[in-house]
Amino acid sequence: AFSTGHSVLNTYLDALVSELAGLETGEIATYIPQLGLADPKDFGIAIATADGRFCKAGNWDRMVTIQSVSKPFMYGEALRRFGRDTVLTKVGVEPTGERFNSIVLDEANNRAFNPMVNSGAIVTASLLAQDTAARNETSMVDLFSRLAGRRLSIDEDVFASEHETGHRNRAIAWLMLNSGMIEPDPDLVLDLYFKQCSVLVNCADLAAMACTLGTFGRQPVTGEQVFAPEVTRDVLSVMTTCGMYDYAGQWLYDVGLPAKSGVSGMIMAVIPGHMGIAVYSPKLDTVGNSVRGIEVCRRFARDFGLHACTNA
Ligand code: GLN
Repeated sequence: AFSTGHSVLNTYLDALVSELAGLETGEIATYIPQLGLADPKDFGIAIATADGRFCKAGNWDRMVTIQSVSKPFMYGEALRRFGRDTVLTKVGVEPTGERFNSIVLDEANNRAFNPMVNSGAIVTASLLAQDTAARNETSMVDLFSRLAGRRLSIDEDVFASEHETGHRNRAIAWLMLNSGMIEPDPDLVLDLYFKQCSVLVNCADLAAMACTLGTFGRQPVTGEQVFAPEVTRDVLSVMTTCGMYDYAGQWLYDVGLPAKSGVSGMIMAVIPGHMGIAVYSPKLDTVGNSVRGIEVCRRFARDFGLHACTNA
């Protein structure tokens, strides 16, 4: 179990930021043009603990779009609204071993493979896009705000940038429409999907959101029960197997924590029962995971004995 004091943890995180600032490999994502404007030097970490406290280091307060780290929360909301059985008919829980935006579907079951890759996230968004675009947006931003414990908002420039260039996601949505995996209207579904990816968070927001998943759905600062424990169990399970795209197996082997990464350079990881951690650094490896983010989590898990498959 994890019993280190907060001041020890703050010192540890500061040292980690100074040390890993020298790690300058990777590329900033530019396929969403607006993301290409990120500052490669930015590097922040935040931890939120179950008792509602935070440890922060580096540029933890930089506001960045959440991108794919939105996927677990939307999946949780779909489970909450429709239940496991209904959701499972639309999206499974098997890793694809393929890139996050690959055009592969679970044809045997006529569903997407899992909710952590784009196809599965678009199906999940289709379940949640049952109202007007404006009302879908409001309930999504409300949900993310309750998870973070403060009011969040959308970066309209990133949204517009992705809306303009997201042809691959459009192709995935129309392919799934063709096989009856999503309900019309794909434009409404993609509107919600692009918006969920464009919600602005800093590391502390994301750490609080991660911590909420880790503490059985109870937001650590406000005390609100946002998700039921059955929901967070399912979300964390799929994060564990599928959260890091085609690096998920290696990640589980090396780090051993439920996690999710996004193309803006955010990674969140959960230490169930204890805390959420979020790291921001925009340079990505070839899989699309933040280079420094991976290294921070690897060190953190190793230094504190947090791998889920040990009983340290
Ligand atoms: N909005 C991005 C996309 O759909 C999210 C992908 C990601 O963060 N990996 O391409």
